[in-house]
Amino acid sequence: MNIIAGINEMQTTARSLKQQGKSIAFVPTMGFLHEGHASLLREGRARGDILVLSLFVNPIQFGQNEDLDRYPRDLERDLGVAADCGVDIVFTPSAAEMYPEEFQTSISVSRVSQPLCGASRPGHFDGVATVVTKLFNIVMPDLALFGRKDYQQLAVIRRMVADLSQGVTIVGMPIVRERDGLAMSSRNAYLKPEERRSALAISRSIAAVRDAYAAGERSVEALSRMARDIFNQEPLLKIDYLEFRNEATLQPISEAAGDTLFALAVNVGTTRLIDNTVLGETM
Ligand code: AMP
Repeated sequence: MNIIAGINEMQTTARSLKQQGKSIAFVPTMGFLHEGHASLLREGRARGDILVLSLFVNPIQFGQNEDLDRYPRDLERDLGVAADCGVDIVFTPSAAEMYPEEFQTSISVSRVSQPLCGASRPGHFDGVATVVTKLFNIVMPDLALFGRKDYQQLAVIRRMVADLSQGVTIVGMPIVRERDGLAMSSRNAYLKPEERRSALAISRSIAAVRDAYAAGERSVEALSRMARDIFNQEPLLKIDYLEFRNEATLQPISEAAGDTLFALAVNVGTTRLIDNTVLGETM
């Protein structure tokens, strides 16, 4: 496994691999890898000749009062997971390498970035779109894999790649959960035991909404009330948003259908967790 920190070296390597006719599969992450990341890496391993993983905690996608400074990091362990998943190249640039002082460019995907996490985290998706474009220009992937855990991020990236003709095939991967239902996240490491227990209300609300939908409930108002009732019993949790939207446009809807996205963000103490499901899809 080759570990590369420099942008030039990564670009030169990618260019020469492509000249040899190799396809490049790419999994961008912020590290502190878990089984969710590993599922992306395994799929990338199966689909590409060369598998590239990036580990980069991207400062420009964090708001002023967010967790950039305490975001969990463990390079040694991440390299172990990467090796186990058959990664060929780990790209680990520094923030100074990615964003030198004169850096002043931003990519903004408008409508699809606005609701949900975009409303609570102004500028977040600009930071994501900008870093993903920069990483694509450096790694030159044929395909890139992203988790549906960050559903809106995936929608933003799909829109950006299409709008800018970036020529990268985007693969969306299912949400990987802990055995008790909590969606895996690097941020779960922040949770105290009692917060971890309370956080199960998130996946419980998803299961309840899916069950009610399967039993024929179509009213978004009723489904929303049912989900909110579950959170009313959890004093440690504060809903940031809990919304039903069209899975493709992310526009609000009033009648649930197979293409309905149920998405939520919840604050548990100082930790913000997100989760979602599309009602017509198996989990
Ligand atoms: P992150 O390191 O949190 O930026 O995530 C890197 C990639 O892993 C993103 O495409 C995420 O959507 C994906 N990912 C994170 N958690 C999960 C999960 N529980 N299941 C599937 N994919 C995930």
